[in-house]
Amino acid sequence: MHIETLDLLRCPYCGGRLALVTDLFNQVSGDHIEDGILGCHCCIFPVVSGIPILHLLPASTAARDEVQAGRPDRARRIMFGLEDDGQAEKFEAAARAETSTYRDLVEALGPQFEGGYFLYRFSDPTFVVADAVVRAVAGTVLAGGGRAVDICGGSGHLTRTLLRLSTPPPVLADLYFAKVWLARRFTAPGCEAICCDGNAPMPFARGAFRFAMCVDAFMYIWTKRQFVADLTRLVDGVGEPGAVLIGHTHNQLVWCPSHGQPLSPAGYRDLFETIEPRIFSEAGLFSDVVNGGPLDLSRRDAWDTVEQSVALTIVASRRADVFTPHPIAPPAEPVGELRVNPLYAAHPEGDQVRFELRFPSEDYGEEYGACRDYLPDTFVLDRAALAAIADGRVPPGMADLVRRRVLVDLPRSYY
Ligand SMILES: [Zn+2]
Repeated sequence: MHIETLDLLRCPYCGGRLALVTDLFNQVSGDHIEDGILGCHCCIFPVVSGIPILHLLPASTAARDEVQAGRPDRARRIMFGLEDDGQAEKFEAAARAETSTYRDLVEALGPQFEGGYFLYRFSDPTFVVADAVVRAVAGTVLAGGGRAVDICGGSGHLTRTLLRLSTPPPVLADLYFAKVWLARRFTAPGCEAICCDGNAPMPFARGAFRFAMCVDAFMYIWTKRQFVADLTRLVDGVGEPGAVLIGHTHNQLVWCPSHGQPLSPAGYRDLFETIEPRIFSEAGLFSDVVNGGPLDLSRRDAWDTVEQSVALTIVASRRADVFTPHPIAPPAEPVGELRVNPLYAAHPEGDQVRFELRFPSEDYGEEYGACRDYLPDTFVLDRAALAAIADGRVPPGMADLVRRRVLVDLPRSYY
């Protein structure tokens, strides 16, 4: 972690500033704290592999004891949940190898971690909508500068979107150490990663950010009132107002397979005490994106529509220019590796390859089947197009394939 990140952080329990305890074990190089102990008015927290662990759950206190004892490697094993020495050594060997991919390391962490979901994340319908909403809302409020935070951001798939919008670099926060560690190495290199508990007060200073978001996780938070009060506190700074986004949260009134503990739309609205949020049906925003834009945030969805929606997007901001139609910019130049979407099976046919859409499981089709709205069942690429893609270039005249996520700009060394 960069030493200046300490200015953003506060103890989740006493609200005090955090500082490196210099008379306890630490490894600092230049402006970066690699391992060490942070102290506030009330307690101490470990920094493990450059990631501050700002909660007091059992793994954190065990890791803290190991750092204090000068054993940062053992602290890291605890945070990765690698209790078996054989498995830990296998993972550490994979982590040391520069050629390891995100997929290799996910597999080395064991079958209980993440599953195959990450492979298709950049083209699933939830991501496609959230990515467009983040570009629109964060793009507006961060145009004049300011920082973004992605809370419960997992392995940083949307933090990657924020990297283009947030200066200084965005902060990614999640309960799971392994996820933010992977994000920093692969998905969103350059972000600041921290671990915290979404059911505890957030470990950040008031006004530390201009954009704060939580996507695809809010229905799993129990302390929703505290969480929303904190999101609005984080963007309550000097200068231009910021924005809060809660993307893809489920609706208590409409059942879905990964329901969580959602509220009804009225319940979500009532969480916001100081600002009236806009609650959108995700399906309406999804159609805007699939139809090529604009993403119309000026819309006021009828309350019936909102109540019948399986997933909701909530935006709160005092800036009127957030609630306008936002053109969907053409896809940017690939920054990672341009690949054919892994949902396609390849069938070579002479000089061409025919690609066929194939879902990895029935469950995937049930939850993410709406991707058929932009992913064609089949398409054909000739040798010249395949060569261009292998070279990291969008084949001439095929920009639409990027917009439709048939070609995806994946992080380097993803799989
Ligand atoms: Zn404290």
